[in-house]
Order: sequence, then C-alpha cells, then structure tokens
Amino acid sequence: MRSPTRTPLQGLPERVEVYEVGPRDGLQNESAVVPVEVKAELVRRLVGAGLRTVELTSFVHPRWVPQLADAEQLLDLLGPFDGDLLAGVRAPVLVPNARGLERALARGAREVAVFVSATETFAQRNLGRSRADALAMAADVVGPARERGLDVRGYVSMCFGDPWEGDVDVAAVVDTVVALAEQGCTQLSLGDTIGVATPGQVVALLDALDAAGLGRDRLAVHFHDTYGQALSNTLVALQQGVTTVDASAGGLGGCPFAMSATGNLATEDLVWQLHGLGIDTGVDLPALVATSAWLGERIGRAPASRAVTALT
Ligand code: MG
Repeated sequence: MRSPTRTPLQGLPERVEVYEVGPRDGLQNESAVVPVEVKAELVRRLVGAGLRTVELTSFVHPRWVPQLADAEQLLDLLGPFDGDLLAGVRAPVLVPNARGLERALARGAREVAVFVSATETFAQRNLGRSRADALAMAADVVGPARERGLDVRGYVSMCFGDPWEGDVDVAAVVDTVVALAEQGCTQLSLGDTIGVATPGQVVALLDALDAAGLGRDRLAVHFHDTYGQALSNTLVALQQGVTTVDASAGGLGGCPFAMSATGNLATEDLVWQLHGLGIDTGVDLPALVATSAWLGERIGRAPASRAVTALT
C-alpha cells in the first residue's frame, strides 16, 4: 500500500496523540444500527492498528442516544479496562451526568468525558438546558471523578460556529473552556461541531485561551470536515503546539447539523498527513484503512475518508 513521503516541517511536535472517536462520536451519529459484536470487533481492530486512545462508548440514557444503548454489553465483550485488550490503551467513556459516572465507575473506567456547548442556543436546543445548567451538570461528574483518581476530558462543542447563532463569541468559548478546566478537567477538546472554522480562527482561539492561562498542553482539537477545512485547521493547531488531535476512523459520523455526509475528520487522512510530516503516531495505516473498509461494508456506507478511498 502506498505511503506518504516523509518530509518534516519545522516547528511541529515530534509525536501526536491520535484520539480515536469513531466507536463513540462516529457511531452515535450514524443512522445505521450497528450490532454490538461489530462494535467490539471495531475496537479490537482499532487497537490492533496501533491506536492508543480509543473512546469506547457513552453511558448516556438510551432514549437520547439509542445507537449506544449497548454500552454495558460492549464492555462485556471487550473485557475489563485492565484486561488484555485495554490495559495499555487510553479508553475513555462519555458520561453526561452523575448516573453515567456511576455506571462508568462500576465498570472500572479510568477516564471519562463530559460535554458542554460553548453557545447558549445549542445548549438549549440540543440538550434542553442552559449553558450554566450544563456546566453545573458537568461539575457533578468532574469533581467526583477526579476525587476517585480518574482523568476527565471536557468536550466543548460549537467553539467556532453554531447552527443557529452563526458566529460564536470567542469570549464565551474561553469562559466555557476555563470553567471546565477549573472544575478539574485534565484535557479540554475544542470542537468545531459544524465544521466551519478556518485556520485564523483556530489560532485566535488558542491565543485567547493562552491569555486566559490555558496552555496548549491541556488542549485537544476536534475538527469536522464539513467545509474541507479539518486538515488545514489541524496543521495550524500543531504549529501552535497542540499535540492531541481527535479523529474518527473512516470519517465515521456524518454531520447532523449540516446537509453533508462529511463530519468528523477521518483518522486515515490525519495519519497520512502526520506520517508525511515525519510525525510518529504509532498507527499502522494499512491496518486502519482495512478496518474502515471492513466497517463500511458492515454499515452499508463507503467511508468518508479520502485516504481510504485512495488506498482501497
Ligand atoms: Mg465530532
């Protein structure tokens, strides 16, 4: 299989952590119902392809996300967090509230993730509560989880644009990210949920967060490719010193807020760029491509990844 010519570029990190969101963020936004055995096989193949961070599922009420109603069965199939498959893997699970945290703790999760919108309208329309209430609900998870020694990732959605509000106020984004950091989140993921950001916006937000005391070492970026900007935005984030990048195998997960089949940045497209830049990821690209091709057949949709299309 073809691989990119390695030509390093100055000013980039030596190693980047690829944070794989396909089994959770990807499958949550696919209309196809994926059998739990297929999900388990997906996680096994992703780990087998060298991914060292895989977000597994969400302990959300099945009424809200029926696609992930099988969280417990999936963990049954994957084995314990300290078992053969997951021991060396950063394997967070999303938890929306204190009940979700209980379920995650009962399973021995070492890391959980919480979710807050940077904009008031999205908080109200998508989650049915104000941003302040959403932050209070996150606090019910973050504090107790940190007391038990868990790492906690805070997702902030709509950091660069909102489907209803349009432009997003950078100060409101900074306030939300800082609030989650002060609650104790160990990593903050900046989400471009509708994929509208362009590189200057990314640098402006990173600068504003830096001025608020939040350094790049606690940040991750979560770009969507709706407007074809995900890799450009990723590259400037790396130049700014960010070293954790969220991506979804095969570009799993369409964009629910835009008439587009393209949502999450595809992990293969990201890995192609990183390896071309001489940046180590630990990912076996042919094995990852084969995984996305295999899953595409299972869910009846060709992967929305340029690299997968080119390499298969
Ligand atoms: Mg996403």
